Amino acid sequence: MTDAVVVGSGPNGLAAAVLLARAGLSVELHEAAAELGGGARSARLFDADVVHDVCSAVHPMAVASPFFRGFDLAAHGVEMCRPEIAYGHPVDEHRTGLAYADLDRTCERLGRDGGRWRRLMAPLVEHSREVTTLLLGDLRHLPSPGPAALLPPRILALQADLFRGPEASALLAGVAAHTTGRLPSLVGGGTALLLGHLAHATGWPVPRGGTQVLADALAADLRAHGGRIHTSSRVTDLRQLAHARAVLLDVAPRGLLDIAGAYVPAGYRRALEKVRYGPGAAKVDFLVSEPIPWQERELAKAGTIHIGGTRAEVHAAENTVVAGRRAAEPFVLVAQPMVADPSRGLPRKQPIWAYTHVPQGDPLDATDVVRRRIERFAPGFGDTILASRAVPASELEAYNANYVGGDISAAAVTLRQVLARPVPRWNTYRTPLSGVYLCSGATPPGPGVHGMAGLHAAKAVLRKEFGLNELPAGWA
Ligand SMILES: Cc1cc2nc3c(=O)[nH]c(=O)nc-3n(C[C@H](O)[C@H](O)[C@H](O)COP(=O)(O)OP(=O)(O)OC[C@H]3O[C@@H](n4cnc5c(N)ncnc54)[C@H](O)[C@@H]3O)c2cc1C
Repeated sequence: MTDAVVVGSGPNGLAAAVLLARAGLSVELHEAAAELGGGARSARLFDADVVHDVCSAVHPMAVASPFFRGFDLAAHGVEMCRPEIAYGHPVDEHRTGLAYADLDRTCERLGRDGGRWRRLMAPLVEHSREVTTLLLGDLRHLPSPGPAALLPPRILALQADLFRGPEASALLAGVAAHTTGRLPSLVGGGTALLLGHLAHATGWPVPRGGTQVLADALAADLRAHGGRIHTSSRVTDLRQLAHARAVLLDVAPRGLLDIAGAYVPAGYRRALEKVRYGPGAAKVDFLVSEPIPWQERELAKAGTIHIGGTRAEVHAAENTVVAGRRAAEPFVLVAQPMVADPSRGLPRKQPIWAYTHVPQGDPLDATDVVRRRIERFAPGFGDTILASRAVPASELEAYNANYVGGDISAAAVTLRQVLARPVPRWNTYRTPLSGVYLCSGATPPGPGVHGMAGLHAAKAVLRKEFGLNELPAGWA
């Protein structure tokens, strides 16, 4: 008999496994892919000297999340490298919004909108720990008043355009677009405040050596606490795990249906079948011979660049994709990790990470559209490309079953599916099956590399299945 089996080695699966192993349980983890990490994998795609992040690349939530704070990445040899500018957003050929890690500098650069940006962000930065804990919470505990009161009026305010110039509005619209949903929206507003204030609190860092180091650090810790890891081990039926007292599934709702659909009550099954999946991500990786030749020189200091034009243009592109059509000028996210972490490549061989939003299951090879979008603000970029690789939204699911139709959130991030994620239940981590839990980004607090769904699910398992109310040191 094994105390706990975890299915899936994404950041949430690994986080849950680490917590359970550190609590003294015997833990076994099964990962379908040959490599560990789920959405936190890196690969040398074109050249042995150059590391590319296959899925996630930029990690404000990993440094801010209570799970990773308790884990202490630095103590595990992981260095988070923080670019001077968290994210930039060219609005047109002449105007660019820049979110410096330094709040004062950001406000200064925003000129007449600087005061308003400060009033929006400064209180959140000051109470960042409480704000982050609340927004990465399990949605079942009442927030402590005070910092929590900062959020609702701000989220509501962001439904309108708050600023006089286009730069600040575009900056926030670009961050809200990380939800890959309709805009403006309450969910987009919450995301803009979470990630937006973190730019000035923890920054938007990249891990030295590539995102894989996060997964490797967790896996090493799991093994050090007795955990056993099986890669290339896809679980297809819950009956394969009959030897476990508790099962934690780092899978999308559809994965839960595949593994356990035959055993769950009909009502729960119908609810899982009704879960909606959001638009897809069409990924493009480039190997380039020099840094991107941005017209706006300051963008050379930014770890992330959002290409989407004005607030209205970002909204129009996102709403078109939500409606199931390709946007003529889609929103594109670009990361240039060597700005902060030179170890990723060589001066004449550098990785560029990008993806754009497309309709569910779109087979589009986005190489040309992404290149064209970057070239608008960086003429000559195309001439620097040595190699490229596209993964259409329709193929992302083959790489990771959680990305249904290319939805990188494991279930659409709509208001309904944020409040009841993935289905309405008091404890959404528990399934109706005895001892079987969900722990993926399809549960609160949703997508991102933060490990918090894993932490919340592991907490429930320890309490309900093993009568342990105390979390291991670091998370107590
Ligand atoms: C292109 C892209 C860019 C992104 N960028 C960022 C970013 O910059 N920052 C950020 O914070 N987040 C980003 N994300 C989102 C982030 O990667 C995910 O939200 C996060 O990885 C979710 O973690 P998870 O543990 O819930 O699931 P996942 O990381 O998706 O891991 C699930 C794991 O379970 C395995 N699995 C599934 N079914 C089975 C089965 N039946 N048997 C065995 N194993 C199974 C899968 O193979 C996978 O390894 C990005 C995602 C993508 C795809």
